[in-house]
Amino acid sequence: MSDLLTVVGPKIVAVANQKGGVGKTTTTINLGAALAEFGSNVLIIDLDPQGNASTGLGIEIEARENTTYELLLDDAELKDVILETDVDGLCIVPSTVDLSSADIELIANEKRSFLLHDALRQPAMEQYDFDFILIDCPPSLNLLTVNAMVASHSVLVPLQSEFFALEGLSQLMLTIREVRQSANPNLKIEGVVLTMFDNRNNLSQQVEADARDNLGDLVFATKIPRNVRVSEAPSYAMPVLDFDPASKGAKAYRDLAQEFLKNNEMAEA
Ligand code: ADP
Ligand code: MG
Repeated sequence: MSDLLTVVGPKIVAVANQKGGVGKTTTTINLGAALAEFGSNVLIIDLDPQGNASTGLGIEIEARENTTYELLLDDAELKDVILETDVDGLCIVPSTVDLSSADIELIANEKRSFLLHDALRQPAMEQYDFDFILIDCPPSLNLLTVNAMVASHSVLVPLQSEFFALEGLSQLMLTIREVRQSANPNLKIEGVVLTMFDNRNNLSQQVEADARDNLGDLVFATKIPRNVRVSEAPSYAMPVLDFDPASKGAKAYRDLAQEFLKNNEMAEA
């Protein structure tokens, strides 16, 4: 109910988990591409200095003159930081290693946690008419991730289907609670999505059972299978949805997008 009042303009979602290699970037790219395929207008913010989302969507280093770093510091106009990708309806603000110094450089800035929040709410943003903004977070609970959580309506958590997967979650939830208390009381958990799921593997099934026991409805029904086409797509600078539209990975990300869209319709009803 209150979502109708709070979500004016794009719905902003931070894709976060402080563990590296769990599928944050893959989920950001492919959920973004699937939402775009279904007709939404989507912006990805690459908030990881490694710039994997930018590379995976074919943004050359030479094209990254204006990046998330400039966006945070209000050092460039939106039209110069928001780049179109080859995917219809999907734009990106790219990043480079420059962003790795932001964590330290911004400590003295009293608005340090609100930089992304403010950048995404500047009036010039309206002309783009984005439906969704997905933020690809770095593998750390640092100031960049806090900026993402302060800027967002919700957090989407990719959970790799492997041993110890749930261990890091309590730390992540603690950070979400702190952000709610200090800056963003309405921050929701969009959901937890199981990634790199292997049906033949007992461990995957164990992780799923644990996650559903502990987190209940927060876990998306859709699971993303381990699928080699998903891991190959970035080196062709494409979402798997375009690289191999009929692959299991592409189908799973379309299912995830549909579930995500359905959850968001219900939130507004
Ligand atoms: P993160 O952004 O959390 O560090 P990535 O999305 O970069 O994680 O994924 C880590 C690695 O796992 C990458 O090499 C990626 O291609 C691979 N990967 C992610 N999801 C899948 C999947 N469903 N099937 C196979 N490989 C995957
Ligand atoms: Mg990543």
